[in-house]
Amino acid sequence: MILETMVVGALQVNCYALGCEQTRQAVVIDPGDDLPAIQAALRKHDLTLARIIVTHTHFDHMLAARLLQDATGAPFALHPAELSLLGLMRRMTLAWMAFDPGEPPRIDGDLAPGQPVNFGAETLEVRWTPGHSPGSVTFVHHASRRAFTGDALFAGSIGRTDLPGGDLALLLSSIRAEIFTLPDDTVVLPGHGTTSTVGAERRGNPFLANSG
Ligand SMILES: [Zn+2]
Ligand SMILES: [Zn+2]
Repeated sequence: MILETMVVGALQVNCYALGCEQTRQAVVIDPGDDLPAIQAALRKHDLTLARIIVTHTHFDHMLAARLLQDATGAPFALHPAELSLLGLMRRMTLAWMAFDPGEPPRIDGDLAPGQPVNFGAETLEVRWTPGHSPGSVTFVHHASRRAFTGDALFAGSIGRTDLPGGDLALLLSSIRAEIFTLPDDTVVLPGHGTTSTVGAERRGNPFLANSG
């Protein structure tokens, strides 16, 4: 599988472009900003965007989603529990960043456990990992043992839970049930910061001590 990581936007979000080497079909996870960089990554590998997906709808993870949708025609999907936050996004961005992000993307489908995201011969499992936000999800690429955890789990940290819909106890139980059940050598690719592994986080993440 082709994987390009781009650090985008004022809040330094990790945006990921994933591609199938055989069919050149691709998905983009968390297009937080910088449409030109995302398009350049797709062009570099001759990829056609099949779907735009987000780990959650905080603006830093989807500021370029509508632009990318308009530029490519690719469908956009999110977890339905995130819909109420999507409505807040424009106001939150105005309040925090003092600019108007414009219209959110059109929603063309749901992300839900049991409904894999397919692109060419590749597939991502969708795991619901609420707590940072109500509809946060983790995308698992089992074939290469990678987990795209958004703002649920970071290297040595976890997502904040003081924003609308945040819930610390729920976040910890999500991580234990949906991420720490993956094989230890699964690479954790978070929404911000450096990569880690499931095993390293299970043993060393200070927020999740005593996770066994
Ligand atoms: Zn977030
Ligand atoms: Zn974030």
